[in-house]
Amino acid sequence: LLEAENLSSAYGRVPVLSKVNLSVNKGEVISLIGPSGSGKSTFLRVLMGLLPPTAGEVRIDGGRIDYRSRAQLRAMRDRMAIVFQQYNLFQNMDVLRNVTIAPIKIKKRPRADVEREATALLLKVGLAEKHHAYPDELSGGQQQRVAIARALALKPEILLLDEVTAALDPELVTEVLDTIRSLASEGITMLIVSHEMAFVREVSTRVVMMDKGQVVEIGSPAEIFGSPKEARTREFVGKIL
Ligand code: ATP
Ligand code: MG
Repeated sequence: LLEAENLSSAYGRVPVLSKVNLSVNKGEVISLIGPSGSGKSTFLRVLMGLLPPTAGEVRIDGGRIDYRSRAQLRAMRDRMAIVFQQYNLFQNMDVLRNVTIAPIKIKKRPRADVEREATALLLKVGLAEKHHAYPDELSGGQQQRVAIARALALKPEILLLDEVTAALDPELVTEVLDTIRSLASEGITMLIVSHEMAFVREVSTRVVMMDKGQVVEIGSPAEIFGSPKEARTREFVGKIL
């Protein structure tokens, strides 16, 4: 579905990603782990077409993305959705409107269809009762679940989640992780950046350990957490578990 081959990228002249290789198959849940500054968010940014590679390539269904082509970038972004740590809901819109606005305004889909789907999505993320609440009337965990529903309303083939629980109080983390877990069990393809190692271990089909802009090791959760091959991985998971 999605492949990165020898992918490098930089902010200006500062190199940040170096020769990253990863292929994401349909239905996989891949988690990116690694120390702060290792390039996890930057990698997601390149995959979303928000930052161009300096070398290497990204392919979708085998077709190489030309980052100079606006049409190709748009097509690429159409197939993915990303949720960040800061959920950035529209404060002046209620929950239903937050979830439906992009499909209606940008994708020009019929309101009735979009609202019916949004209702199902809000049920799925456990917010069936909150259609008409405004973001400032919701807890952080509820707001983050609205952000996830909003991303899913775009029917992405791949959902990218960048530390979606990092800004939440500990007691709110579980409800968001439960939501992600149920998406995983439905077979939604996901690329997850998370520091919740117990969760990563449980939910991932594969785990990617990154350090200093490079992929150090890729393996099953059992391999990465149980018997990592690389010293750097051993040190990282040893510290964090
Ligand atoms: P964290 O776990 O802290 O979120 P990360 O693995 O997501 O870290 P990135 O955000 O990808 O790391 O950052 C990788 C490197 O790129 C870091 O050295 C960071 O300082 C640098 N960097 C990130 N964003 C920018 C930017 N907008 N401009 C310049 N440098 C940046
Ligand atoms: Mg990050």
